[in-house]
Amino acid sequence: MTKQLPKSLYLRQELLHLLQTLYPEPKSELIFTGDFQLLVSVMLSAQCTDKKVNQTTPALFAKFPSFEACSRAPLSDIEEILHPINYFRTKAKNLIGLSKKICLEFDGKLPRNYDALLSLPGVGNKTANVVLSELGAALTFPVDTHVFRVSKRLGLTNGDDVLKVESELKKLFAPEQWRSLHHWLIFHGRRVCKAQRPLCPSCTLAKLCHYAARAKVPS
Ligand code: SF4
Repeated sequence: MTKQLPKSLYLRQELLHLLQTLYPEPKSELIFTGDFQLLVSVMLSAQCTDKKVNQTTPALFAKFPSFEACSRAPLSDIEEILHPINYFRTKAKNLIGLSKKICLEFDGKLPRNYDALLSLPGVGNKTANVVLSELGAALTFPVDTHVFRVSKRLGLTNGDDVLKVESELKKLFAPEQWRSLHHWLIFHGRRVCKAQRPLCPSCTLAKLCHYAARAKVPS
């Protein structure tokens, strides 16, 4: 089959169909319940695996189960619990800082708009968009390292920064497809389209993939 960029409507629909078949349940692999645990889990997952976050958060949530509890927590206690997580010192400080701000300025409740989320310590564009998407508060297309890499390899975007990739993906796909596609690209990046050695010869998406076409991977 001739390899093509998956930018035409037909090829984009084919891509979505293949991803839906591969990963029928597109959802976060972080384990959380409620708004507090959602924000904390997503914030901790920056530069860290979901598996490590899921192994660490039960102890945190048992000892400090709310923004209010975290706002009063001693920094050393939070640091000790978060020790297995990358950048635990910065994240511990940010967790206390964002909890204090939420208690003081948002009545102890997680704000549900982008600008308010972005004003919290440790919350950047990706974290804010993931939280809004998971809350169902807004249609967003968060771009993490997997979404960035896989979408570029597929030929969906030529953007060289996260905001450009996010903008191009949003133009290519309907808003109601963003959340699922975000999760699908993450799943595929973790399992098949790995950063160092993508498993192109066994990849279901190879027939649509720009990178595979250039590498002359048989489909
Ligand atoms: S064919 Fe290779 S580069 Fe393309 S999506 Fe699959 S694993 Fe990634």
